[in-house]
Amino acid sequence: MTVDTLNPRSPRSWLYPTPRGLYCKPGDFYVDPAVAVPRAVITHGHGDHARPGHRAALATPETLAIMRVRFEDMPDTSQQPLKYGESLRVGEVDVQLVPAGHILGSAQAVLEYKGQRIVVSGDFKRRPDPTCPPFEPVPCDVFITEATFALPVFHHPSDMGEIGKLLRSVATFPDHTHLVGVYALGKCQRVIKLLRAAGWDQRIWLHGSLLSLCKLYQDHGVDLGDTAHVSDAILETFKGAIVLCPPSAIADRWSRRFAEPVPAVCSGWMRVRARARQSGAELPLIISDHADWAELTQTLKDVGAPKVWVTHGREEALVHYARSIGIDAEALHLAGREEEGA
Ligand SMILES: [Zn+2]
Ligand SMILES: [Zn+2]
Repeated sequence: MTVDTLNPRSPRSWLYPTPRGLYCKPGDFYVDPAVAVPRAVITHGHGDHARPGHRAALATPETLAIMRVRFEDMPDTSQQPLKYGESLRVGEVDVQLVPAGHILGSAQAVLEYKGQRIVVSGDFKRRPDPTCPPFEPVPCDVFITEATFALPVFHHPSDMGEIGKLLRSVATFPDHTHLVGVYALGKCQRVIKLLRAAGWDQRIWLHGSLLSLCKLYQDHGVDLGDTAHVSDAILETFKGAIVLCPPSAIADRWSRRFAEPVPAVCSGWMRVRARARQSGAELPLIISDHADWAELTQTLKDVGAPKVWVTHGREEALVHYARSIGIDAEALHLAGREEEGA
């Protein structure tokens, strides 16, 4: 939808979906665009939100650091860091970044134009995560929400309970290696912190593709304890060890070096039996960096927005729910969102 006349009382006249992504007209920028654009505001570092090649990118300092690791330093992108809580005028719009509780550096983009406030939440969750500050509900006129797990069937159990399952399995099968599939950005570091919180103080072994982002988290003050690259092991049998790897590595040649590994995968999708089977996980662990149904619906109440726009995932159910409690809700049908690290 393209609208030529700006009308601050009509939010769809100043922020609207385009084929390149969500466009803010009075600020002349896109939020998490699907392609390279002149000016982008980026909510967080996952691949379906942060892409390379923008001429200018505004994001939290942590998100920019993540993008530099993933996109080879981005020498051609002018990078504008904006810390949580600071405000910056872009064109005629005031932009603020507020914690989203999703991964390190993740933010909600709070956009204000002529007295009207729209919050683009990016991806978020509500439960505590030791690797990032918690989601802050911001009262607004329009709340734009994801809907990755927006069905009542999605109830994420307690993360420490899931970590307990992993540690019980390690104790029960001390001669086996536990291979734990985690996404490299966010899930990996959160699972390490949860293991530490549960008392696992032994070395945690890492697949090579997890090293650079673990180092980045450590450099940002997230203490991961004793970790090491699997390839650096000398005279190590990995019996009784916990090894983290990307989910795809579980079925890979790489995993053959471990004797009778027990494959586990950490993801919100592990709730779905077919997905768990598909992933090859003998031990599916439901640990998600996205809000579940209860968290999504609670968040709509907490922000109190009269209008809600739903971006990616199961839009219909959340739109239906929001309307049932008197919210003017619609699906935005944004292109280019394939959830990374759910
Ligand atoms: Zn994400
Ligand atoms: Zn996403």
